[in-house]
Amino acid sequence: MAIESFNPFHMAQQQFDAVADKLGLDQATKDLLRNPDREYHFNIPIRMDDGSYKVFRGFRVQHSDARGPSKGGIRFHPQETVDTVRALAMWMTWKTACVDIPLGGGKGGVVCDPRNLSMREQEAICRGWIRQVARNIGPLQDVPAPDVMTSPQHMIWMMDEYEKITGIKAPGVITGKPIGIGGSLGRTEATGYGVIYCLRESLKNLGIDIKNTTASFQGFGNVSQYAIDLYTQLGGKAICVSCWDNQEKKSVTYRKFDGLNLKELLSVTNKFGEIDKSKAADLGYEILDGGDWIKQEVDILVPAAIENQINAETAPNIASTVKVIVEGANGPTTPEADEIIKSKNIHLIPDFLANAGGVTCSYFEQVQCNMNYFWSKEEVLEKLDTKMTNAYHAVYELSKEKNVYMRDAAYMISISRVAEAVKMRGWV
Ligand code: NAD
Repeated sequence: MAIESFNPFHMAQQQFDAVADKLGLDQATKDLLRNPDREYHFNIPIRMDDGSYKVFRGFRVQHSDARGPSKGGIRFHPQETVDTVRALAMWMTWKTACVDIPLGGGKGGVVCDPRNLSMREQEAICRGWIRQVARNIGPLQDVPAPDVMTSPQHMIWMMDEYEKITGIKAPGVITGKPIGIGGSLGRTEATGYGVIYCLRESLKNLGIDIKNTTASFQGFGNVSQYAIDLYTQLGGKAICVSCWDNQEKKSVTYRKFDGLNLKELLSVTNKFGEIDKSKAADLGYEILDGGDWIKQEVDILVPAAIENQINAETAPNIASTVKVIVEGANGPTTPEADEIIKSKNIHLIPDFLANAGGVTCSYFEQVQCNMNYFWSKEEVLEKLDTKMTNAYHAVYELSKEKNVYMRDAAYMISISRVAEAVKMRGWV
């Protein structure tokens, strides 16, 4: 797959097709699951702060609701495309099935750059997005959540708009809400911690003591920050992190062989997970090229930024010391790079297993909202650990039993569960 023609949806379909053939799915089930059930594309006209009007493009894609209401985040990104949203919606279906929660897969997005929008303009986009899909989402239909460049604040504006339109209180319509207004404790940590619960289990299987490991991370947003936090708490040493530099319009890698100091780095990072380069240099961090995070001689690589980062061009740069790649981001690795990773005999923990902690905690949030009774943070994280640990081991066992790559084993579990649901419902 040429990098310039990278299309995440084609990649998601390619991954699905390969496993569907292995599982011997019939043609109708394949046709049903390789395309979204429904998609909504719409305009969101906004009055800007300067009095002018601007129209933003919004999407909601519901890939499958065979196992329960569609579930998935909303991204605000200037390069958002419907094919990215389609791929992410499909991966959500596999993700909820992989951790065995009673939800389907969906995803949404708006083509916009919140870095250049005031909070009032962002609120108008959130409310406009809901007005366009209010009839098609809901606690029992489709439940959005935050994703890249959307936050609990965006979610509460969206919930408020939904409640205004429907005239009911419906906190279960959206997850990732602020604590105290329907949010769950532990949601902020959930994805990053879930990544590390899986990593911890994989290292046990490989007979490696986490305390003797080093790791390099791509991305320094929600997922990566909490992954670094728990990894460090467990005794690992994170030596490298890369993120986007919006001034230079390119990514930058930061390295400290003694180990990153999370608190210190956070003090020079903005809310978009962008580290201030000159302040980081003052703190003693080496400044390297954006692509250098993958070249480090570490035991563990954690891509936790965006898709298509480990590809045919970059995968050959992975050092021979790397033993585990745990995918925090969605779709960071292309099928070509998978072949290179297999040939290097690296244990890969695929995205829709590794980063399923977020949606699992979102599911807990929905359950708590529906009960109108909220759990302690310890209770949430304990339940999360159990779910992630069980899901990791189920995938690992199948990969050993069938002698297949971890991504294929995860797909086999997820696709079989969804295929069984559509069969039992009598859809195909
Ligand atoms: P975020 O917006 O909080 O952070 C993204 C980070 O990636 C930022 O540090 C940004 O600077 C960096 N980045 C962007 N482009 C980059 C590039 N080209 N090179 C290096 N760094 C780059 O996002 P997040 O919530 O941490 O999500 C990260 C990934 O994890 C995404 O793929 C998202 O879909 C996935 N994910 C997130 C969650 C969640 O709960 N937040 C759940 C599941 C999956």
